[in-house]
Amino acid sequence: MSNVEELAARPLKPALLELAGISRVSVEAHYRLYQGYVAKRNEIVGKLAEVDRSAANQVYSDLRALKVDLTFAIGGVKNHEVYFEHLGGPGGDPTGAFRALVERDFGSVDAWRADLTATGLAARGWAWTAYDWDEGRLLNLLGDAQNTFPVWNATPLVALDVYEHAYFIDYQTDRAAYIDAFFENLDWGVVNGWVAAYGVPS
Ligand code: FE
Repeated sequence: MSNVEELAARPLKPALLELAGISRVSVEAHYRLYQGYVAKRNEIVGKLAEVDRSAANQVYSDLRALKVDLTFAIGGVKNHEVYFEHLGGPGGDPTGAFRALVERDFGSVDAWRADLTATGLAARGWAWTAYDWDEGRLLNLLGDAQNTFPVWNATPLVALDVYEHAYFIDYQTDRAAYIDAFFENLDWGVVNGWVAAYGVPS
C-alpha cells in the first residue's frame, strides 16, 4: 500500500471532560488509547509501503501480520471517532430523524435501547446501532474487538464502547451502570447530523 496519507487524531472536545457519570480521568485515559490507534495505523501503513510482498504467506508473513493488525488499528480509529463525537450532549431519548428510524425499525425507543443495552452486555468490545444500506434499516450489531464483527455496507450511527477501559475507573465491573451513563451523554444533534450527511432515507 502506498500513497496513503498519515492520519491525525481529532482533538478532544472540551465537552467530553464534563460528562455526567463518566469521569474526566477516564475520558483522558480513553482518548490516549485512541491516539495510540491513530499512531499504530500510521506506523503500519508506513511498514506496508516497504514490506516484502513476495514473502506473503497465510501461516505467517510480515504482510499478513501488518494487514490483520491494520484492521484492528483502523477499527480503533473509526469506532472511537464515532464514540467521542456523539458524546457530550444532553442524553435522553433520541430525537428527530434518528428517533423516527428507531421507532420504525425497533417498534419503540424503549425496545431499541433495551436491545442495544443487552448487546453491549453481551459484547466484549462494542455494540453499534448501524444503518444497513442493503436491508434499508437500523441494526444493533455486536463487536468483540476493534475489527470484529463489522458488517459490510452498514454505517454506525451509535457506537457504545464496552471495553473495560471505557468504564472500569468509574464503575469497576458494573458495566450496566456505565451503559446507563453512556445514554445520558449522547448528543442526538450529532447523530441526526450524520443521518442527514449520509443521506439515510427516512
Ligand atoms: Fe475504547
